[in-house]
Amino acid sequence: MVQIKLPDGSLKEFPEGVRPREIAEGIGRRLADAAVAAVADGTIVDLDRPLENGHDQPIELRLLTSKDREALDVLRHSTAHIMARAIMRLFPGAKLAFGPTTATGFYYDVVLAGRPLSEDDFPAIEAEMAAILKAAEPFERFSLPVDEARQFVDELGQSFKVEHINDELHKYGILSFYRQGEFVDLCRGPHIPHAGKVGAFKLMSIAGAYWKGRTDGPVLQRVYGTAYFDKKELDAFLAQVEEAKKRDHRRLGKDLNLFTISQLVGSGLILWMPKGAVVRGVLENFLKDELMKRGYQPVYTPHIGKVELYKTSGHYPYYKDSQFPVLRLLDDAAMTLLVGLEKDELDEPTQKLLLAKAGIPETMPQAKTGQEGQLAPAFTDSFFALDKASKIKYVEQLGVSEEYLLKPMNCPHHIQIFAAQPRSYRDLPVRLAEFGTVYRYEQSGELSGLTRVRGFTQDDAHLFCTVDQVREEFRATMELTQFVLGSLGLTDYKLRLSKHDPEDPKYAGAAGDTWRRAEDDIRSVLDEMKLPYEEAAGEAAFYGPKADFIIRDCIGRQWQLGTVQLDYVLPERFGLEYTGPDNQPHRPVMIHRAPFGSMERFMGILIEHFAGAFPLWLAPEQVRVLPISDKVADYSKRVLAELQAAGLRTSIDLRPEKIGAKIRDAQLEKIPVMLVVGAKEAEQTTVSYRDRIDGDRGAMPLDQAIAQLKAESEARTIRQTAPPAAIPAATEDTTEKHAY
Ligand SMILES: [Zn+2]
Ligand SMILES: [Zn+2]
Repeated sequence: MVQIKLPDGSLKEFPEGVRPREIAEGIGRRLADAAVAAVADGTIVDLDRPLENGHDQPIELRLLTSKDREALDVLRHSTAHIMARAIMRLFPGAKLAFGPTTATGFYYDVVLAGRPLSEDDFPAIEAEMAAILKAAEPFERFSLPVDEARQFVDELGQSFKVEHINDELHKYGILSFYRQGEFVDLCRGPHIPHAGKVGAFKLMSIAGAYWKGRTDGPVLQRVYGTAYFDKKELDAFLAQVEEAKKRDHRRLGKDLNLFTISQLVGSGLILWMPKGAVVRGVLENFLKDELMKRGYQPVYTPHIGKVELYKTSGHYPYYKDSQFPVLRLLDDAAMTLLVGLEKDELDEPTQKLLLAKAGIPETMPQAKTGQEGQLAPAFTDSFFALDKASKIKYVEQLGVSEEYLLKPMNCPHHIQIFAAQPRSYRDLPVRLAEFGTVYRYEQSGELSGLTRVRGFTQDDAHLFCTVDQVREEFRATMELTQFVLGSLGLTDYKLRLSKHDPEDPKYAGAAGDTWRRAEDDIRSVLDEMKLPYEEAAGEAAFYGPKADFIIRDCIGRQWQLGTVQLDYVLPERFGLEYTGPDNQPHRPVMIHRAPFGSMERFMGILIEHFAGAFPLWLAPEQVRVLPISDKVADYSKRVLAELQAAGLRTSIDLRPEKIGAKIRDAQLEKIPVMLVVGAKEAEQTTVSYRDRIDGDRGAMPLDQAIAQLKAESEARTIRQTAPPAAIPAATEDTTEKHAY
């Protein structure tokens, strides 16, 4: 017998090998019909999977229906099988690789025998899939010993699966398959009971992919699709995809002349054009003003720092894989030697002298060989036995006097400012703020618009405080972040308490008590502020836990933005001190915080959030003067001058176009307000006020128009045309779930 424990806590006994489906039937017909899969002791299984008691405890069982997020993954992976089956029917000889689920659907990697697949084939594949859904055949699981399994997939002509068995799966001994009619696939499962459970599906796109991600391996075609239990959810998802395309910041950035990327400057390095620079500047000034009010002090620091600085902070090993290569500076004498060697100008005594001056030994010391990042071979001969090219390498390698990094983080620089003068407890908290640009070497394949870049500016600040001040300061930074995001209309967010993971070597050296105390501090602030949050182990920075704001934008997508981090580690590593009331040295605590995170990424998100139509206070051009004819050119120029004098960002359209065309162009450029000026307005010193959202507000005195514009801009009012309703089934789960 097996004991089954249900979510309501009840315990029941069943014969060995009982199936979740039978248990569901025992509870009720409706549940049995609605069930899609089950979770047995934390593992998702098919409804027909026999449950066996491998241990003495009861099996905890939960039945999944279409309402459960886990069930959607099972449905989508099953739809990947259905798509593969349709492709095999239409394109005999097609080879299949992997077919996992993604955050928004599924894909299957395939190679056709004759020609590549194209999106033009989608209607035929979708029609075949619809036929498979209609037949509603069951997914049947069976197992084979690994040798038979290998022979079986070989006979099916699935060479990728053979290779995968040989590479990885052979260790399992027994492998499972799923059969659906004529189609059989090597798969760990689980699956929905039958194809009829798929409510709605759609094939989305095709991309290239490498077999097992190996760039030297065969190129496959990755066919993306999505599936839902309910057609309404699919429709909402497709509407969201369309809306996201319209809002793509890469397209809008180009259309609205906000930013550009030049291959000559480099990939992932953003060039802000005047209009984008205005928006960014307004955001920065908004934040700077707010920081001054809240007791922050501005600082500026350089873009590079010595490697030793980052070794002390611990950033160096941690960010090593995502850093630009180290800048190595040669000692002056080594430089003279190098130039002389290149030109063949130096005799041996001079070389010897310069070596000595540069502190370079004539034979390579053992310790210097194989240094990190050094490409040169280990020289076994003495310098004077080497040929010219090797001598040059030798000097380049051993003549380095200083090594610099493009800064990956601003913290170590700010720490040096804190440490530059003696600090008393009366000075604390010290809050140092800087829009600091940092550099990370992202793989070129991962670069994308403003969201994945190689250089970005953090709206960074570091607070140094006493242990007693931690909670209050942490709370103040949380409130600042809420205020700043709220001012931009980003009010729909949740919080994540990112903790350390004792198993992860990244946190080695993190003293258990200190970490727990920091996590407790954050937890108590979040509780005190009554902010709902979830906890995530392994998401903390290497120096401390943090609270992350996860924002949902107006079309339902989630972004991680502002972050507030608590740090007991870096003050320790740098030996920071202040003098306490007891006249003794004490160690301060650090808070790292950035409400926007990165200016580049935040601007990308804002462009998409507002669909390029910035509210008046942020718009690069706030108001445009549109003269009806050149007879009113003089008056319209006076309007322009008065707008400028009032501090509004404005321009005038003096082209000999019809007023309708001028209005249309201003609309396309998403200018918030247009002031139309004709003969009557010139005579009465009025303007016709056209708002981007409300339309025509009629004629009004020029003074009144300017006062209205100033008031709306200063109040930082946010008015937006309503986007389509956010899709309910949006998910944050971005992990790929591989079934085998
Ligand atoms: Zn499968
Ligand atoms: Zn920091």
